[in-house]
Amino acid sequence: SSWWGQVEMGPPDAILGVTEAFKKDSNPNKMNLGVGAYRDDSGKPFVLQCVRKAEQLIADAALDKEYSPIVGNAEFCKASAKLAFGDNSSVINEGLISTVQALSGTGALRVGAAFLDKFHGSKEVYLPKPSWGNHTPIFKHAGMNVNAYRYYDTQTYGLDEAGCFEDISNIPEGSVIVLHACAHNPTGVDPKPEQWKEMSKIIKERKLLPFIDMAYQGFASGDVDRDSFAVRHFVEEGHNLVLSQSYSKNMGLYGERVGALTFVCSTPDEAKRVESQVKIVIRPMYSNPPINGARLAATILTNAELRQQWLVEVKEMADRIITMREQLVANLRKEGSTHNWQHITDQIGMFCFTGLKQQQVEKLTKDFSVFLTKDGRISIAGVSSKNVAYLGHAIHEVTK
Ligand code: PLP
Repeated sequence: SSWWGQVEMGPPDAILGVTEAFKKDSNPNKMNLGVGAYRDDSGKPFVLQCVRKAEQLIADAALDKEYSPIVGNAEFCKASAKLAFGDNSSVINEGLISTVQALSGTGALRVGAAFLDKFHGSKEVYLPKPSWGNHTPIFKHAGMNVNAYRYYDTQTYGLDEAGCFEDISNIPEGSVIVLHACAHNPTGVDPKPEQWKEMSKIIKERKLLPFIDMAYQGFASGDVDRDSFAVRHFVEEGHNLVLSQSYSKNMGLYGERVGALTFVCSTPDEAKRVESQVKIVIRPMYSNPPINGARLAATILTNAELRQQWLVEVKEMADRIITMREQLVANLRKEGSTHNWQHITDQIGMFCFTGLKQQQVEKLTKDFSVFLTKDGRISIAGVSSKNVAYLGHAIHEVTK
């Protein structure tokens, strides 16, 4: 008999399953709007020029392949913290932070969650409703309990401001609250600066620990400083917080797995003690992080010329996404749609919560070979000047 005969087949991943179904379809007009990775206007994966140049510089330097320290590449960690908090950040200058390299955003969240499970008083984590599909399993896997606060308004397709503030006001003291720094996934709905300020105030009054997930810095507005407004405001307001960063989207380094995890602490001594324990969490998980991606990101962030080129390229990606949102709405109007599609352009980042109902989503896939997740989320990265008219037509047909 077999050791694992009793193992049942697990369900396919909800998002990766969309791509599998897409691949099987033979319609030449088919569109994959499930994928969470940027595509250029020809629908192709996009490698940034600054990344190509950094690869060349690193190859030319003929560096060794020794193990990284447990906390990763020090130059990378420093540059990541500066990118998030700003060049003249007081928490950096005063030594109040501890930053470690992580296996992209997912790994940063997972290590952060494991640290909190071990050292944070409360095991309760509150996620926006809805949140990125992987947040719940990440925190549960680390032993934390997952709860939700109202965020998205299904009537307005925007922020449920009253519901959100009310729910946060009722979260038990000491709990962890997860916030998406910008380009909220899956809804594309971000709080406005005034709303962030109010949230910061309530979170402070309730004595909650903010865990900010920043997976899209620069990718939302095209401006890395503007997209870090929430992070910087919370720090200015004196919150001690946890921050996860990812370079998957903004540098297009998806498969390199480059990210960072930062703890903003009360004293330099506390930051050192926290870091010593984060190392103890990481060591039995994967020992130390891979070297290549962090070298690439560190080179781009610290070489003045490459950094400048990166800022231009990240803006190009953000601008293409914004333009596709505008063209999608224009095409829906051209088709004669009378619905108010303003939320498509109000929302920001890679994803758009269309408001399509499950039946409409099914029809879109069955009749038009447009593939998306059941919740009506489309990845704007999969829309191009060549297929935006087709998409507008298809959406109009299923919503009229
Ligand atoms: N957090 C959010 C909100 C995301 O949307 C993603 C990716 O889709 C991630 C974190 C982590 O991605 P990665 O592990 O590739 O950095």
